[in-house]
Formats: sequence, structure tokens, C-alpha cells
Amino acid sequence: MYDFLIVGAGLFGSIFAHEANKAGKRVLVIDKRSHIAGNIYTENMDGIQVHKYGAHIFHTNNKKVWDYVNQFAEFNRYTNSPVAVYKDELYNLPFNMNTFSRMWGVKTPEEAKNKIDEQVKEAGIKEPQNLEEQAISMVGKDIYEKLIEGYTGKQWGRPCRELPSFIIKRLPVRFTYDNNYFNDRYQGIPTGGYTQIIERMLEGVEVKLNTDFFEQKEELMKQAEKVVFTGMIDEYFDYCYGELEYRSLRFETEKLDVDNYQGNAVVNYTEYDVPYTRIIEHKHFEFLCQGEKSGSVQGTVITREYPSDWQKGDEPYYPMNDNRNNKLYAKYKKLAEQEANVIFGGRLGMYKYYDMHNVVEEALNTVDKCLN
Ligand code: FAD
Ligand code: UDP
Repeated sequence: MYDFLIVGAGLFGSIFAHEANKAGKRVLVIDKRSHIAGNIYTENMDGIQVHKYGAHIFHTNNKKVWDYVNQFAEFNRYTNSPVAVYKDELYNLPFNMNTFSRMWGVKTPEEAKNKIDEQVKEAGIKEPQNLEEQAISMVGKDIYEKLIEGYTGKQWGRPCRELPSFIIKRLPVRFTYDNNYFNDRYQGIPTGGYTQIIERMLEGVEVKLNTDFFEQKEELMKQAEKVVFTGMIDEYFDYCYGELEYRSLRFETEKLDVDNYQGNAVVNYTEYDVPYTRIIEHKHFEFLCQGEKSGSVQGTVITREYPSDWQKGDEPYYPMNDNRNNKLYAKYKKLAEQEANVIFGGRLGMYKYYDMHNVVEEALNTVDKCLN
């Protein structure tokens, strides 16, 4: 018998397991994958930590969250500053003076603001109603057309007019020459990868891999007082109100016999006609082409990220948090509240476009409530 059966050895499930185990509870963690760490899983390939499920950069403004994750690994000083390629043009991200200067030849913040104001006025947008209008009102039409429209259309499988504004509000717009993709006070990548963080969290906890909850739901539930479920909430309820929508991805990883393929960890391809959204070159997350580490590793590893429609059986990487799906989720949430012995957590259990820091915060709050 266990106090907690935790479904999912990702970040949410593992924090819950770690804290519950520390408090003396009997815990079993299961995961249907063959490895722990969920989507933050990293794997050493010939000396390079490869982010197997897409680039993961930890960032937060919350000191408690930062201190918490730093217990499990040392973080480097990586600052995300992707480059965007549109046809034969190259721009810095997020949208900042470097982007504006390259786009329009402007030099000062005032010139950039005037250019954007002009384009917003021309578009006649007062209160943005969708992602397209939101984007144009933030950065003007030129940047929207070259850096946002195609990328977003590929990523979400829908035109920007049919997408909620909040997605583009994730990105900073600033009138300084600063290419930092995030505004948060703390940022970095764990030296030695993310998997070790989860390994340390799960030290002393029983873990069963290759175990799908739904294949033995009844038996598993009988073994524990409470279940912490971090899989898809609609699947848990057998899609009784219908399917929530997700976006999936296909990752194509290859080892190349060159030292430095693209000079940056993240390069976005913003044209609609290029089928992938970004190429990640993993060694740049660890500065393996710089300073004393330069030449320490042979070759490089890159991953192309191809967005795709989600169908049952695919990995549901992104929840699609538009109005229709949020309403449907609200119905599942009501059902979840009636399941006295099941706690729903994480990106899929809560159907939210959560970053890692959000998940750490949610998991710590949830386990705290549960244990006290
Ligand atoms: P998951 O990592 O999805 O873990 C859930 C686990 O449950 C999985 O291991 C799954 O196999 C298991 N599971 C599901 N159903 C079952 C079942 N029926 N039976 C058994 N096991 C089951 N965040 C950032 O902060 N910075 C970034 O740069 C960043 N980049 C990202 C890039 C991509 C491409 C993606 C997809 C996400 C990114 N994120 C990033 C978000 C980050 O991955 C999540 O916030 C975090 O991993 C969520 O943790 P979780 O435990 O909720 O979910
Ligand atoms: N985005 C874009 N062009 C880019 C990068 C991002 O239009 O070059 C938009 C796109 O809609 C994306 C959103 O901004 O879904 C949020 O980007 P973020 O990098 O936060 O996405 P994630 O890393 O979660 O995939």
C-alpha cells in the first residue's frame, strides 16, 4: 500500500514525489515512457547534453523556485537569445532595437516607436481581438509578416486571426539593444542536463517505467490512498465531454561532423514554407564552442522541430488554450473536483501552457496543501 501513486515522472510528479517521500509518505511513481523526467529529459550524446523534447531554458522571477531547483543541480549562465531567419534575412529575437534596426535601419528608440505607431495606425487596430491584431499592435506589420505570421501558423496549425493573443504576449518587446528572450531575474541551464535533477528528486522513491496508468487503472488505484495524475485530464475521464485539442511535434535529431553548425543554440525559421519552426544546436547551451571548452567535444548535435496536428496516441506537447478548449477544460475541472482522492497537476493535468517555473510553483503549493 502507498500513500501516493504518482502518474508521471515529469517535473510536477517528481517534485510531488520528492516532497512526499521526504515527509515520510510511501510513494510509487509510474510513467508510461521508458525514462524519467518527462519533457525535460536530456541525454548525453558523445559529451553533449541533448534536450530530447525541445530546447528547455529555465527562467523565473521567483527566488523560492530558483533556490528550489538549484538544490538539485548547478545552473550555468545561459541566456536565451534566438536568431530568426526569414528567407535570406537574419534578425535578433525577442523584438528589440537590434530587430528594429535590422528591419528598418532605425537607430533610436524614438525612431523605432514612430515606425511601429505608423504601422499600427495604418492597420486601424484599437483593441486587439486575436493574435494577429495583438502582434501588429506590439511590433507593426513588417515584423508581423516576416517573423510572426509564418512561424505561428506552422506552430499552431491555424492562421493568427484564429488564435488567442496571450500566446504572442509571452515574448518581450523592448526598446533597448538587449537580445535576452526573457525578462526574468533568474535564468540558466543545469550543468550536466535536466535528467540528473529528476534523478536526485526521485532518490529513494520507487519508480516503475513503461507502465501506462490506463492499462491497469483499477489495480493501481486500489494500491494507494491518493493519486496524483499528471497525464491528460480529458483522457482520465475517457473523453466524456469530447477531446481537448493539443499540438504535437516531431523531433529530428542528427549528429554532424562539424564543430559549430549555426553559431547559436536556437535558430527560428519564420517562413511558412520551411516545414520546421526551429533548429536547436545543443552544444551552445553549454558553451562548448567557447573559451576553454572549445574543441573539447567532437562534432555537434542538432534537432529540427516540426509541429504537427495531435491525434490520439501522439505526444500532446502543447495545450491549445483558446476559448473553446478552455471552456471544455472547465467542465473537466469540475469533474476533477469531484474525484476526492485524485489530484490533477502539471501541464497536461491542468491543461495550461505552463513553463517549468510555473510547474515547480504549482507542484510545491499542491504538495504543501496535501501534506499539511
Ligand atoms: P511532463 O513533462 O509532460 O510529464 C508528464 C509525464 O506523465 C510524462 O513523462 C508522461 O509520459 C507521463 N504520463 C502521461 N500519461 C501517462 C499515463 N497514462 N501513464 C503513465 N504515465 C503517463 N518550459 C520552460 O520553462 N522553458 C523552456 O524553454 C521550455 N521549452 C519547452 C519546449 C517544448 C518543445 C515543450 C513541449 C515544452 C517546453 N517547456 C519549457 C515546458 C516544460 O516542458 C513543461 O512546463 C514541463 O516539462 C511540464 O512538466 P509536467 O510534469 O507537467 O509534464
Ligand atoms: N513566435 C513567433 N516567431 C518566433 C518565435 C515565436 O511568431 O520567431 C510566436 C509563436 O506564436 C510562438 C509564441 O510566439 O508560439 C511563443 O513563443 P515561445 O518561444 O514562447 O514558444 P515555445 O518555446 O513555448 O514553443
